[in-house]
Amino acid sequence: MGLLDKEFSDGNIIITTTEDLFNWARLSSLWQVGFGLACCAIEMMATSASHYDFDRFGVIPRPSPRQSDVIIVSGTVTLKMALRVKRLYEQMPDPKYVISMGSCSNCGGPYWEHGYHVLKGVDRVIPVDVYVPGCPPRPEALLEGLLKLQEKIRNESLVKKSA
Ligand code: SF4
Repeated sequence: MGLLDKEFSDGNIIITTTEDLFNWARLSSLWQVGFGLACCAIEMMATSASHYDFDRFGVIPRPSPRQSDVIIVSGTVTLKMALRVKRLYEQMPDPKYVISMGSCSNCGGPYWEHGYHVLKGVDRVIPVDVYVPGCPPRPEALLEGLLKLQEKIRNESLVKKSA
């Protein structure tokens, strides 16, 4: 059962739990760190544009990690940038979430074998909630990743997440 556990016949009263209410609010307003690393970021920007319209899911780019709930790591994470990504993540307030978008961010992508300058997966420096495969993933794939994250938040325990 979700937020609308029980709706009375006149439609004016809803009974739910605090946990469901908080989770519903969180999954419906995932403000995003406005930050891209390489070619995958172009697809992320396309997802925010009018055709795919990320805004309708409550995903709004913010200029500061301190105002953000989710970071979408979109592109090649070089060793030099890895520390910056980690710093951005650490500046986000809890609860916070990470979507790894594309092969580079997931595992090093085309640089996996010979890219001495590329981190072999952003999960080596920050925890990842959802991995979106592709090189680059299309906007539809990123939207699917967002839906997976929303599903995860919907079933989250407030106590566990803040522990
Ligand atoms: Fe570019 Fe492919 Fe790496 Fe994305 S996964 S940043 S498209 S090389």
